[in-house]
Amino acid sequence: MKAVFVKREGGGVELRDVEVPTIHEGEILVRMKACGIDGTDIEKAYGKPITPPMLGHEVVGEVVESKSPEYEVGDRVFVHHHVFCGKCYYCLHDSYTMCPLFLKTTIEPCGLAEFFRVPKINIDRGAALKLSPNLSWEDAVFIEPAACVLKALRRVDFKAGDTVSLVGVGPTGSLFIKLLKFLGAALVSVADLSEFRLKMAKKLGADIVINPIQTDFGEICRRATDGIGVDIGILGTPTAKPIQTLLQTIRRGGKICIFGAPEKGEKVELDFSWFFINEVSIITSYSTSEVETTLIHRLIENGKIFFNDLITHRFRLSQAEEAFEVAKDASKSLKVIVENE
Ligand SMILES: [Zn+2]
Ligand SMILES: [Zn+2]
Repeated sequence: MKAVFVKREGGGVELRDVEVPTIHEGEILVRMKACGIDGTDIEKAYGKPITPPMLGHEVVGEVVESKSPEYEVGDRVFVHHHVFCGKCYYCLHDSYTMCPLFLKTTIEPCGLAEFFRVPKINIDRGAALKLSPNLSWEDAVFIEPAACVLKALRRVDFKAGDTVSLVGVGPTGSLFIKLLKFLGAALVSVADLSEFRLKMAKKLGADIVINPIQTDFGEICRRATDGIGVDIGILGTPTAKPIQTLLQTIRRGGKICIFGAPEKGEKVELDFSWFFINEVSIITSYSTSEVETTLIHRLIENGKIFFNDLITHRFRLSQAEEAFEVAKDASKSLKVIVENE
């Protein structure tokens, strides 16, 4: 079968022929139907990633072989690649994604493959969610990224009526716009360098969209909040530099959320005293867990929210290299989906 991997040299991705995984007791084999490409996949393919090298983790498909009593051939599933143990110190203190088990768990060989094996531990920990027949693959493929966004909003303690600024509206950053509007944000103000992505952001419901090179984002956000600044600022870029732009939008006592995965070793200079005297908190959010995937699944299944209007491109698995080239081009793509032929 075909599966996508990071090229051994030179960056980018390549298709390789690998064996269809063999499943053991308690496991399932899934035929991939759709898989999203996100910022961390791009970083794995072209940058210096801090996340594991597996490509394709926003994946949905159909069970084609089952050695688990809970799943039958033909079941449609969303599968989360990482699970937490539920009993270690981190899990007992709500730091599920910091659980030592979390990064040790994965699917084999990856989500961007014709078939993948779901290990017993993922099954046991509730990582494979059954999808109802009327839920489309393109709706379900957003369960993982939307769950990451929901987790971040919970970590910054977002409340209805809050005002929010967002720097970087790539494929996952854009999900913030939809969830924030759905959850009752009073203002969603976004900045990005890509005119294409700003246009998409406006369509998705952002109240203010600006290019920070041309316009002072801090001033725009303050003007929209009676000179106060926003309650929450989200850094959705895979680089730390725009944090300076983001900080100019924040009110005293506000919070910023580091959401886009920075490259390994990324550094930025910050005025420490400013954070202290203005009581601005920095909160980070990494990945997601079944705590949020199950909630997003329910919201999507019940027709409360959908995200498929973010999709700009669809590719077949055999076109994976092209899919990645398009996905990394911020001037023409937002969400890129890879489908099995
Ligand atoms: Zn744990
Ligand atoms: Zn993702």
